[in-house]
Amino acid sequence: MNKILNRLLNKNTNKTLNLPHKKPTIMKRIFTLLLATASLITTAQERCGTEAHTKNLIKNNPEYAIARAKVNAQTEKWIKEHPNHSEKTIITIPVVVHVVWKTNTQNISVAQIESQIDVLNEDYRRTNIDKINTPNIWQGIAADSEIEFCLATVDPNGNATTGIERTQTTHGQFGMNSDIHTTSAGGADDWPNDDYLNIWVCNIQSGLLGYATPPSNWVGDGDGLVIGYQYFGRTGTVQSPYNKGRTATHEIGHWLNLDHVWGAWGNCGDDQVNDTPTQEQENYSCPGFPTNANSCSTTNANGDMFMNYMDYTNDACMNMFTNGQKTRMLSAINNYRENMLSHTLCSGSVGVSEMKSNTRKLIKVVDVLGRASTEKQTNTPLFYIYDDGSVEKKMIIE
Ligand code: ZN
Ligand code: CA
Repeated sequence: MNKILNRLLNKNTNKTLNLPHKKPTIMKRIFTLLLATASLITTAQERCGTEAHTKNLIKNNPEYAIARAKVNAQTEKWIKEHPNHSEKTIITIPVVVHVVWKTNTQNISVAQIESQIDVLNEDYRRTNIDKINTPNIWQGIAADSEIEFCLATVDPNGNATTGIERTQTTHGQFGMNSDIHTTSAGGADDWPNDDYLNIWVCNIQSGLLGYATPPSNWVGDGDGLVIGYQYFGRTGTVQSPYNKGRTATHEIGHWLNLDHVWGAWGNCGDDQVNDTPTQEQENYSCPGFPTNANSCSTTNANGDMFMNYMDYTNDACMNMFTNGQKTRMLSAINNYRENMLSHTLCSGSVGVSEMKSNTRKLIKVVDVLGRASTEKQTNTPLFYIYDDGSVEKKMIIE
């Protein structure tokens, strides 16, 4: 109950007034709780709906509940068994963007969609220009996650595609139910969730920026991200302060099994990542460093990692994932989204090097002894030989 109370309080003190966190007195707590409860009914503000959506999925899908309950143990096991996961080649995730629109404004441009893909590639490869804003104390643990994104070039039927699918609708705002991923309900059906990252961009319910589905061995319909057209990309219809594409960066973090930095389901919780400091609760706006030092009964003078993509700060204030978060994401791909490790859905490529020189063709794959091998072979270093004379060494870890 305390956790719920804190979250409600936070909505009222931080979200609507945009004030830095302060500890309210008991009297004020009770008063603001009443206010917050009232305001929740009318104008709920939620940067991210993933926790609420996940709770709902767990409640309504027994298979998902069972599968999700196993995820943390499976993740820890994989990380222990794969200490050298970082030798892995770059993983490229094929994306389909379903633009579900009613007004012309909602039918966002190709440039806006491409700007989002650019943001994702920068943030997940740590080529974002604002990485210099990461405090020095955390520069050393800030990760190049070695994950990239491409708009799919091959659709589920094997035909060429732009990776962008546009669906006109008469539907009003979309909440967190199945409408958005159901064509007959005014949304757009999923592409196979094992093969593609489905992203729906739509007129989302007021106050919500987006939500995602965390992974498990049970992948259901609607797996992916839903994001409001005002928060997708960094040009076109985006609205400050969520106008730099970090909503999708954050939600894909969830899709790859990251929790908020203040922990799953509560304050001062555990996000299962060792190199993110324990954090009392979410941060909004753009705090100064350090913020909220020594919270949660810790002696952490550096305070909150509020510039982590898995906090709630403004887009312009976020700039990092940690190495621990990277490991957890790689584990999620290997355990639950393994089709992303090897596919031909983006210009026939599986990695960044191919994307940079996509005119060359793969001639053959050989092992260290020069014997012909298959691309699917795992846990073995392989040499990829191309028709332009280039050779690459890669290993798919399983
Ligand atoms: Zn979130
Ligand atoms: Ca942590």
